[in-house]
Amino acid sequence: MSYIKENLNDVLKDIENACIKANRNKEDIVLIGVTKTVDIPIMEEAIKNGIKHVGENKVQELVKKYEIIGNKVKWHLIGTLQTNKVKYIIDKVDMIHSLDRLSLCKEIDKRAKSINKVVDCLVQVNISKEESKHGIYKEDAVEFIKNISNNFKNIKIKGLMTMAPYVDNPEDARIYFRELKDLSNEIKKLNLENVYMDYLSMGMSNDFKIAIEEGSNMVRIGTSIFGKRNYMK
Ligand SMILES: *Cc1c(COP(=O)(O)O)cnc(C)c1O
Repeated sequence: MSYIKENLNDVLKDIENACIKANRNKEDIVLIGVTKTVDIPIMEEAIKNGIKHVGENKVQELVKKYEIIGNKVKWHLIGTLQTNKVKYIIDKVDMIHSLDRLSLCKEIDKRAKSINKVVDCLVQVNISKEESKHGIYKEDAVEFIKNISNNFKNIKIKGLMTMAPYVDNPEDARIYFRELKDLSNEIKKLNLENVYMDYLSMGMSNDFKIAIEEGSNMVRIGTSIFGKRNYMK
């Protein structure tokens, strides 16, 4: 399993180089190891080698792994979240990256309130407007966030998240990252209660270097650390 350590070192080097290029501090970048389909021993290996944040996109998988690994890492729910599953993860997650509709916000707020928790969340924005992608459109973001700020006191908005389209040349993803950064600046200026634009969650294995150059401070990386995923298990 030493490949994990090697892969991780390569990723950290790439993050560092992207930061140098963009004149930024590598300490400002949160690395989320995306562990969907990755088995517990491999996750433990990654944690031993310095991974402090993990991202899962399925509620059941997160719950199962949380029971074993517990809170020695921070847990990020990065995938689409069904409203009826919020109750299973509300006490476990450190951040939800996929706020994309008011019905979901309402449920998260209700469940968080019932355990006296304020949950850190990101609003997922579908910058590229691909139909296959979740998230609200950029044009609707301000209204959506104002609504959350006014109505859901147990949700703290910590920033924005996006997935760029998969492109052969990661340079082609740059415009989408730039648009998300611009949007976050626009929202920051509104000074809304309980709304902070501290995080831009953007960049995956194929495009995280470009995302960092464009202002990302939270990258979600699976394949480059853990290898190609096997969904057949
Ligand atoms: C799977 C996934 C990632 C990681 O993708 P890789 O290309 O394996 O790095 C990042 N974000 C989300 C939302 C994902 O579902």
